[in-house]
Amino acid sequence: MSIANDQMHIVALSPEEGFRPWQITQAQQLSSAYQANTLPHALMLTGPLGVSKQHFAEQFAFFLLCSSPHAGRACGRCKSCSLCLAGTHPDWANIGPEEAHKAIRVDTVRSIQQRLQQTAQQGGNKVCIISPAENMNDNASNALLKILEEPPANTYFLLVVHQVSKILPTILSRAQGVNFALPSANSIVNWLKNDFDQVDIQQAIERARGFPEQVKSILSDSDQVYFNNDVLLQLMLGKPSAYDFAAKLDQRSAANFLDALLALLAQQSAASLKESNEELTVGYAMTEYQRHEIYALAINAKQALAQNANLRLLMETFLQDCTAFFHSPHA
Ligand SMILES: [Zn+2]
Repeated sequence: MSIANDQMHIVALSPEEGFRPWQITQAQQLSSAYQANTLPHALMLTGPLGVSKQHFAEQFAFFLLCSSPHAGRACGRCKSCSLCLAGTHPDWANIGPEEAHKAIRVDTVRSIQQRLQQTAQQGGNKVCIISPAENMNDNASNALLKILEEPPANTYFLLVVHQVSKILPTILSRAQGVNFALPSANSIVNWLKNDFDQVDIQQAIERARGFPEQVKSILSDSDQVYFNNDVLLQLMLGKPSAYDFAAKLDQRSAANFLDALLALLAQQSAASLKESNEELTVGYAMTEYQRHEIYALAINAKQALAQNANLRLLMETFLQDCTAFFHSPHA
């Protein structure tokens, strides 16, 4: 059963979770517009993949369907909110591809259209989330365009768009854009600091190149082993011994370890280019020679790892070589 044609929708969120910290401005603007009766029928949520646009769409759908919203947010307690939470709200529709990365077809849009033409079953608004909207093929886009030209009463379309250039200009002209940029590292830390260790969050931000949803999934994936900078440096210095450490690693944690080390080296290299050693996030500043040599060793070790080399022997040798470079600065 595809999500697109299903009456039910999957809601893994709750209105209590609220908007992400970097979405508050957009949420306030849109809820004020709604209260002033000036909210357009179609909103296009744009920005790169991984900045929580889907989350925003779902939170805003909660708000639009709630029968007693407060301060721009759903109450979480009314009948509409309960139905949203159960994933069975009759006036909430999702349009998406039947399989990931496939096109959204015209039949999907038409079947939802029939539902949206009916009066809202809960007597309030109707909401349709289309995600990712750029997956609509031309026929589907044209079918949506017809709906947007004469939108059913009290119906709001939330289009989640990762690549605006793939949206037909005719659709663009019918929807108001709401853009989400990559949030600052501080906003991500504020968002996650109650649930995760601050050092781990910073590390995950580095690894995810600042994309918040990826940061969260890295932190939530408890199977993964993480290496903060202090641990990495202790290992480079030979504490604990390479032998003890390598004995505990599996393939995946060895790969994580090498990635974390490469990220640390890149970070140190960037900081040294700025000639601001006080910005180094670790207590031990490597010389350029050490960084260069250890970087090359780590790249080689990653390649060997991918070719299924003897894991334990590989990591032991790697760490011993690193420690040797640490004790011979050659600066
Ligand atoms: Zn409610």
